Amino acid sequence: MILQFDLFAPYSDRLVHGITTRQFGSFNGSEIGYGDQLKKLEEATGLRPAFPIQIHSDSILKIVDSPKVRPEADAFVTQSKNVPIGVKSADCQGILFFDPVRNAIAATHSGWRGSAQNIIGKTVERMKSEFGTDPNDLVVGIGPSIGPCCLEFTDPEKELPAHLHPYVKGRNLDFWSLSLDQLKGAGVKNIEIKAVCTKCNPDRFYSHRNKDTGRMALFIGLK
Ligand SMILES: [Zn+2]
Repeated sequence: MILQFDLFAPYSDRLVHGITTRQFGSFNGSEIGYGDQLKKLEEATGLRPAFPIQIHSDSILKIVDSPKVRPEADAFVTQSKNVPIGVKSADCQGILFFDPVRNAIAATHSGWRGSAQNIIGKTVERMKSEFGTDPNDLVVGIGPSIGPCCLEFTDPEKELPAHLHPYVKGRNLDFWSLSLDQLKGAGVKNIEIKAVCTKCNPDRFYSHRNKDTGRMALFIGLK
């Protein structure tokens, strides 16, 4: 099964996107490890997205063609048609960006480490500098991730940087509010968040904190 963002529906003439679920199967390990999944995705959607090797950084790469070798990064941005891009997540967030005016896209992976570095805000900045994107035009979808119910730390005040402390409630981090605020702080207004916890919904999603090794894929491509 593949989920979609409602906010992207009006653009289906020029945009393909989706979020795979547990029912679709796992994207994990190396390219070789999920080659069959890529094939299955291609059969289902006509797309074979490029995925970076995710390193919990704030590294954002602009790509023009599908890379032959997967680069280390946590986001791709592109204006190229037929160069679909994607990220993988379990408890982390996958965030898809579409600028319908400049016809540009981005796919970003953000765990709490990426959030601490505001890779979400930096993705918006990069789209501005690369494509002339106005954040007012952006349409952004945040995929399912671990919720405020379950993102618990042993000692959040020590483990998390000070600028995340306002999002700590008890020993839990409200990852959803944090990402929404980072997007709003970057000037984005059109946001859809799949506010469904991956750990609480093992029937549909993989969760690192449920000791799953599986990953969901979020992908987006310009036709
Ligand atoms: Zn939960």
